[in-house]
Amino acid sequence: VSREEKPFTEVKTVCPYCGAGCGIYLGVRGDRVVSSRGDPDNPVNRGKLCVKGRFALKFVNSPERLKKPLIKVDGRFVEVEWDEALSTVAERLSEYSGEEFAAVASAKCTNEENYILQKFTRAVMLSGNIDHCARLCHAPSVRSLSMTLGSGAMTNSIAELEDSACILAVGTNPTETHPLTAYSVIRAIRSGAKLVVIDPRRTRISELADIHLQNRPGSDIPLIMAMCRFIIEEGLHDTEFIESRTENFDEFRDAVMALDLEEVESLTGVGVEDMRRAAITYASKKPASIIYSMGITQHAHGTDNVIALSNLALLTGNLGKPSAGINPLRGQNNVQGACDMGALPDLLPGYQTLDDSFRFSDKWGSTIPGPGMTLPEMFDAALEGRLRAMYIMGENPLLSEPETEKTRKALESLDFLVVQDIFMTETAELADVVLPACAWAEKDGTFTNTERRVQLIRKALDAPGEARTDWEIICMLAEKMGAEGFDYASSSEIFKEIAALVPSYAGISHERLQDGGIQWPCTSYEHGGTQYLHSERFSTPTGRASFLLPGYHVGEVSEEYPMVLVTGRNLYQYHTRSMTGRVPELDSFSDREELLINPLDAAKLGVEDGGTVLVKSEGGSLEVRARVSGDVMEGVVFMTFHFAETPANVLTGGDRDPVSGMPELKFTPVSIRPVE
Ligand code: SF4
Repeated sequence: VSREEKPFTEVKTVCPYCGAGCGIYLGVRGDRVVSSRGDPDNPVNRGKLCVKGRFALKFVNSPERLKKPLIKVDGRFVEVEWDEALSTVAERLSEYSGEEFAAVASAKCTNEENYILQKFTRAVMLSGNIDHCARLCHAPSVRSLSMTLGSGAMTNSIAELEDSACILAVGTNPTETHPLTAYSVIRAIRSGAKLVVIDPRRTRISELADIHLQNRPGSDIPLIMAMCRFIIEEGLHDTEFIESRTENFDEFRDAVMALDLEEVESLTGVGVEDMRRAAITYASKKPASIIYSMGITQHAHGTDNVIALSNLALLTGNLGKPSAGINPLRGQNNVQGACDMGALPDLLPGYQTLDDSFRFSDKWGSTIPGPGMTLPEMFDAALEGRLRAMYIMGENPLLSEPETEKTRKALESLDFLVVQDIFMTETAELADVVLPACAWAEKDGTFTNTERRVQLIRKALDAPGEARTDWEIICMLAEKMGAEGFDYASSSEIFKEIAALVPSYAGISHERLQDGGIQWPCTSYEHGGTQYLHSERFSTPTGRASFLLPGYHVGEVSEEYPMVLVTGRNLYQYHTRSMTGRVPELDSFSDREELLINPLDAAKLGVEDGGTVLVKSEGGSLEVRARVSGDVMEGVVFMTFHFAETPANVLTGGDRDPVSGMPELKFTPVSIRPVE
């Protein structure tokens, strides 16, 4: 890492990368970010930062930042003034009905910006078609935990992990994807906590585990149900909790006791005695926390996977108390907030249902449309000509969505595409109009981290050229279209409207956040926020949590595609690299894609370490460098989706979770052969 310049000023704000939401002091010199250091008072990171928070924030200085609005003329972008750009967008959007329009919000933008985009979509365009990348991340958690517990968020706080007696980490690689959360796990282990890991990959966290169950990709449900059975057989279930706080236990118990354990062993590839040992460890050490992320949710049965984990926590009474719980680790800095703000096609801000839309129609002076399309459904509709105009704020679906070629065709078949971003992304290249937005360091607002902590971000420097904040752009557009109710003077004023409409945010304001973040629910100005959920009752209509029976799905490979591709992320790059790709220092750690392949498979297929392989699936093919590694099990290969040159999502796609719309990203049958 190059030598850092000394900052003139430091501004207290929040890291823009992962959902941990570490506090930082951002060092600024003139119009450049020059340094960052951890905020010692922030309860998440207590002064520490990972490599991205410490060294990867200078992307805001990049000369490639968008500085002027652009309109495509004869296939080339031409710089125009804001007035012309907004008039063009307003004129074109007024040609489309609600069903013909969709908006994509952003887990990178603030709560205020996500709120404004969904309000614009619903109240101005009269469309329910609003979604964002949570569809590819924790949409299954939102759906399933709402069904079982009444709330789709992390039940407990990151720091509480440190006092857990046992941590069960399933389908998560936190040292790479949520490093400061992993630090809390490590501190727990140092204090004597047991760690049980369920993951097909060997990871840094699995190397610290007391027990690592390396199961076949996609086989979590039978494994977790078997663990539930062993807990009941050993008498380790919490009878008092089950009787006083849950429902449907008898049906659930009968189902797990009827499991065919031989079948479970053959589906998972894990021995029954190892599963029993893991179950006993988890159930006998209290309090016990479950953490999980994309290894659980990014499946065509992601909702059922989360239901299985919820059952496990309920069975052992590990809910409604400190250092216990079930904790989905949210990926992006504000994916929790974008969901809270109603950037979802079936839920209004604060997860209020469309049946309760009267408060919004009263406040916004507009009718509220019915449920809209999910992100994958939007691309299907574009291909079928039902969706004709799209507005994308700060996301790059061309690289992040599965089935890259289908996504490209869908975007190309739109009549009109607007992209609002800080860089000319692969998706923006396809747009008719590109609007330059401010980066996080150039605006005020709030992010909500994975543990429901709403935190202030503060403007540290001016945006380059004529870039504007995302909320200002949408408000200017709404006013151009003749809409009322978009004349906010500041993001703080938008937050006041949010607090008036979202009960769990009712007691939060920018003023209160000056002293530090507040965890929702926070229902009044006297309320101090909520460290852990469900202490007295669950947020379900009956106040009780439900055991539900998850379906049983394990994918299969074929003769033509005999191996399983699992996609994921690494520590040094971030998603589609629109930010980290502009930080050259990170290239020395990770500058190109590598496909991890087990040594036995490599020997069988003649693949050499560092050699090039052709990876083929039903959806497409690509060539990539191979790295022979024991971190993946036999029959499984792994690659990230970070690099545009080797876009992993040309290979993925196909099945989707029928409940949440999540595409299958952790089980793609592929073939591998070396390239001469
Ligand atoms: Fe930023 Fe996440 Fe690293 Fe914290 S752990 S510094 S929030 S990337």
